Parts: sequence; structure tokens; C-alpha cells
Amino acid sequence: MKKRIAVFPGSFDPITKGHEAVILKALPLFDEIVLGIGVNSTKNYMFSLTQRETWLKETFKKHPNISVATYEGLTVDFCKSIGAQYILRGLRNTNDFVFEQNIAQMNLDLNTEVETICLFTSKMYAAINSSIVRELIKNKADVSQFIPEALTITY
Ligand code: ADP
Repeated sequence: MKKRIAVFPGSFDPITKGHEAVILKALPLFDEIVLGIGVNSTKNYMFSLTQRETWLKETFKKHPNISVATYEGLTVDFCKSIGAQYILRGLRNTNDFVFEQNIAQMNLDLNTEVETICLFTSKMYAAINSSIVRELIKNKADVSQFIPEALTITY
């Protein structure tokens, strides 16, 4: 049988406990999950690509069926290039729903062979947001409750 491969796309700047929980929750559904770090040359990131990649690998090092890759361009094209049939996304609230529905429908127009699967976030992680975590880091707050244990932020 063909391997069921899902891409979880994001910038992971940084990865949060919310991302981590959704990825782990989805693990039984797929043979392999590829964490795709989308590289957008016009976007300013807080953490370097190498740092973000290292943190992702470290967070999931006990899971051989989770891998990390970087890509430029469209997520559906990246999926095609690695033979992934699914895009995995997490839904925190209705804003995420509207946003994800829109992208998922457009992605289907671009490639009917890549289906988006969304999982609801557990309520304990629903308020966690990478951009707020970045704001807290800028202000030297302790963010350990929002990020996976493998990450250490030093000030
Ligand atoms: P980016 O990393 O590109 O800024 P996001 O972090 O916003 O993108 O989102 C990447 C994916 O992770 C999206 O599907 C988003 O809904 C999901 N996500 C983000 N934060 C959480 C969270 N706290 N719980 C579950 N899913 C989340």
C-alpha cells in the first residue's frame, strides 16, 4: 500500500507546544509526517532557519516517522515533489477555520491530489500563537510554558 505522507507546513518561528501537540495527535493517522519549514525570502524571521530546523528535530527526535524539510514556493508543489498526499493543519478557533478553509480550497484547485486535514487544538493550547511568543521573547519573558521542552531561550 502507498505510504500516507502528510506535510505540516509552517515557519515555526519558534515551534510552540500547540504545534507539537497537533503533530503528535496526528501521528497515528499517517505513515510519515514531514514538518515543512516554508522559506519566504521577503519575510523577517526571529530565529534562523538552522535554529528552527534544529529545534524541530530535537523536539521530535524520538519519532522516526517525523522528519524535517525546508522548501520554497507553494506548499502543494512541495507535497508533490515528495509524494505527500496530505497537508496537516491545526485549528485553534474560528479565525483559523476561515483562513484554513480558504487556503485548503485554493490548494485543491491547484492540485486535487493533495487533501488538507485539520485537527482541532486541545483547549489548553488554543491560545498559543507563535507571534505572541515572539513578542514575549522580545520582552525577555519566561516562555517555557508555551514552547516544547527541547527549546531553550537564553537572554
Ligand atoms: P507559521 O508558522 O507559518 O507562522 P502558524 O504557526 O500560524 O504558521 O501555523 C502553522 C500551523 O500550525 C497552522 O495550521 C496553525 O493553525 C497551527 N497552529 C499554530 N498554533 C497552534 C496551536 N497553538 N495549536 C494548534 N495548532 C496551531
